[in-house]
Amino acid sequence: MESKNIILFVTDLHGDVSVYEELFRLGAGMNVKAIIIGGDITPFMMGTGEENIAIQRDFIKTYLIPRISKFKKDHKKVVFLMFGNDDFKVNYDLLIQAEKKGVLKLLHQGIHKLNDWTLRGYSFVNPTPFFIKDWERKEKDIEKDLKEIENQCAEKSLIVFHAPPINTNLDIIYTGEHVGSKSIRKFIEKAQPTMTLHGHIHESPEISGNTMDKIGETICINPGNAKIILIDLDNPKNIIFTK
Ligand SMILES: [Zn+2]
Repeated sequence: MESKNIILFVTDLHGDVSVYEELFRLGAGMNVKAIIIGGDITPFMMGTGEENIAIQRDFIKTYLIPRISKFKKDHKKVVFLMFGNDDFKVNYDLLIQAEKKGVLKLLHQGIHKLNDWTLRGYSFVNPTPFFIKDWERKEKDIEKDLKEIENQCAEKSLIVFHAPPINTNLDIIYTGEHVGSKSIRKFIEKAQPTMTLHGHIHESPEISGNTMDKIGETICINPGNAKIILIDLDNPKNIIFTK
């Protein structure tokens, strides 16, 4: 691949250090311009107790931020990331601090540039049956949030949503049910960003047999959990799974 906009994307790592290490190893590759991480970045927890919050905090503090910092120093490349619904929001201050120090860039509520592309992110998901509620929002509130950026999609715009849009290849659970967000779908239909990246529904690509879908002209991708993919933003149909 010869392009100035080749990125690595991975989501739902849930604290898997072996996948992170593989990501940073691949990220060092000459052609890769940036790494994008789509949420659920810390170890998976079964409840909301203080000790669980502390485990995630410790992971961010002692592994994730120092590791990203080293990657940045060694390779002079940007890491874009955000939280997902399984990351306790109370620990978000660590990422904000790291961004202030120039270690990483936060996608949620941010606007960033990667050459001629505009990057954004949105962590909130539509309600789930799971324990952690910090990044859940009702559909009507997601709709309200997204309305604000509806007219702001640049010609080359990439938006990372933790949740997938409903009724696509990207939002099917084991029962065959579609559980994606209506409001995210509605937003994509209207705003038509060039590309959207998603996660959250780990099993969907396996069940639908497809990591990609199209809503109007927008290319939407969910690679599945902890699957690192290489995307040439200027030739997006050419997605390479690194494993
Ligand atoms: Zn996840």
